[in-house]
Amino acid sequence: MKRWLIGSLILLAAAATALAWSFSGAVLPVPAGAAFTLPTPRPPPELQLYAIASGSMASRAALAYRGGSFSDHRVFAMGSILVRHPQGDLLFDAGFGRSVAAHVRTTPRLMQWTSQYRAATPVADRLRAAGIAPEHLRGVVLTHAHWDHVSGLEDLPGIPVWLHAAELAFIRSGDPSTELARQLGARDYRTLEFSDGAYLGFASSHDLFGDGSVVLVEAPGHTPGSIIAFVHLADGARYALIGDLAWQIEGVELPAERPWLPRRLVDHDAAAVRDLLVHLHRLQRELPGLVVVPAHDQRVWDRLPQLTPTP
Ligand SMILES: [Zn+2]
Repeated sequence: MKRWLIGSLILLAAAATALAWSFSGAVLPVPAGAAFTLPTPRPPPELQLYAIASGSMASRAALAYRGGSFSDHRVFAMGSILVRHPQGDLLFDAGFGRSVAAHVRTTPRLMQWTSQYRAATPVADRLRAAGIAPEHLRGVVLTHAHWDHVSGLEDLPGIPVWLHAAELAFIRSGDPSTELARQLGARDYRTLEFSDGAYLGFASSHDLFGDGSVVLVEAPGHTPGSIIAFVHLADGARYALIGDLAWQIEGVELPAERPWLPRRLVDHDAAAVRDLLVHLHRLQRELPGLVVVPAHDQRVWDRLPQLTPTP
């Protein structure tokens, strides 16, 4: 056999071994840290949180976190979280919109070939069916601007879209992962100020309603302007809406990062994502009852209050 052929085969085998290894289990080390102090929120009794799934994608645990199995089929929820506050109704992310079939074609071919999506009733229509006029929303807060989080914005014309200034710059930078956000054209974008001081170990925060019930923190990593939202209800229920920091809850519970290939494809700063996963892991451990909500873990979404149509 020719020497170059042997060399190529050895290289190929080494690459295949490295790729297989990158999917193997690797729990991130969790160093001890100072205890977290949770400022006392003053949520109004009317504050409520609802999940609105507007579709899903079929995937595998192995693609979501290191150590997940390829035979472990997972449903990735695609949708919005609705927060109803006396000062106004807010959506976190916009889920799949009415034109999702066209929107999915703005994504990389590899994603289109390797995953199948299923569309359900879009968020704007789900709101209307529940007796909530979408045109009266106070705004949509984007955890980040990837296509599956902005698709439904098209059905919500004129609604303010709140996001981190770095995420708006990411959209305007021409990065391929924000292609759909650019195609959706001019939106009423409003950038968030993070001037409300440190919060749960994050350096700065934005208290959305001024009562500590919905607090946003900067969490750059998955994208440059990713954010996390903490929501505290009057009955003591508390949630962390973490966007795509982890796709499935094991990312936080183990904690474990995405395998190399998906990490390379979707994460802007993998080291920052690792640090945030460890931080969230510690928060979940130390704040009893904190429900960490990855944007795409259907099992977690199924346990949230669901927005149902009015009879
Ligand atoms: Zn994303």
